[in-house]
Amino acid sequence: PEDCIKLNPDYIRSFQFESKLMPSTWIVIRIDGCHFHRFSENHEFDKPNDKQALDLMNLCAAAVLEEFQDIIFSYGVSDEYSFVLKKDSQLYQRRASEIVSAIVSFFSSMYVMKWKDVFPEKELKYPPYFDGRAVCYPSNEILRDYLAWRQVDCHINNQYNTCFWNLVKSGKSKSETQSYLKGTQAREKNELLLKEFGIDYNMLPLMFRQGSSIFRVETENSSILASGNSVGKAQTKIVTEYCNIIEQSFWEAHPQLGL
Ligand code: ATP
Ligand code: ATP
Ligand code: MG
Ligand code: MG
Ligand code: MG
Repeated sequence: PEDCIKLNPDYIRSFQFESKLMPSTWIVIRIDGCHFHRFSENHEFDKPNDKQALDLMNLCAAAVLEEFQDIIFSYGVSDEYSFVLKKDSQLYQRRASEIVSAIVSFFSSMYVMKWKDVFPEKELKYPPYFDGRAVCYPSNEILRDYLAWRQVDCHINNQYNTCFWNLVKSGKSKSETQSYLKGTQAREKNELLLKEFGIDYNMLPLMFRQGSSIFRVETENSSILASGNSVGKAQTKIVTEYCNIIEQSFWEAHPQLGL
């Protein structure tokens, strides 16, 4: 170690590279469970949708919003969650690797910590882990398109998976079911569910069909100070909704999000 003291730290640091996210743009961190197809089988998740597993994802996401104040909105489906940081966020000076790694590791820790709360009867057999990426979206419109893309994906996958698992549970093999469903349109899938299984797709839980949105809302709290002065203090709380985020009306109803 004595010899190493001569080394110039600037020289060593020169090998590090900092990738900073573009200023004044929305930052989206999307995390996704690694090998959750297998994880969900090993932990006997209900198919196509395990409500408790989705509740667990939502608890973890709400905890992320509590921890990272710059996140204004998040959207989750299946084993993934997208977190939207405000445009002017200076979290980790906008260095992508730090932001992504901090959120991903916080989420994974939460998932393990909260497991027993959601699945009191089920043992967590091995540690789940998530990957994450950061993407910048330069305008409100493009960010809304991004979120719409995730919600459309939720709808398409849920419709497919609902057909798939009902067919499999009725005795068809998985490969048979796959080829049977290949190329079918949305309308045909809805008809199949109704005719074969008496399921009205539009009556399935909103959480499964729309995914989960967790975001901040302002609550106007009037607190009385010791002096007797009343001040209106804007406070925020975190809410979970299963709603349509593709329609403009959602964003109009929540102007505090700035979208
Ligand atoms: P990768 O590591 O590439 O992300 P993956 O196996 O996690 O692979 P995904 O495309 O991310 O694949 O899909 C996640 C899978 O996890 C779903 O296809 C589904 O099988 C399962 N899954 C996740 N959440 C649930 C849930 N709430 N209920 C039932 N199954 C779930
Ligand atoms: P940042 O979030 O910027 O990394 P930090 O509080 O984690 O801030 P570090 O510079 O990473 O600060 O230093 C880690 C600190 O954690 C140490 O200064 C020490 O106080 C504490 N710490 C870590 N490991 C140990 C340990 N094994 N025993 C005692 N203290 C420890
Ligand atoms: Mg992945
Ligand atoms: Mg995955
Ligand atoms: Mg996924």
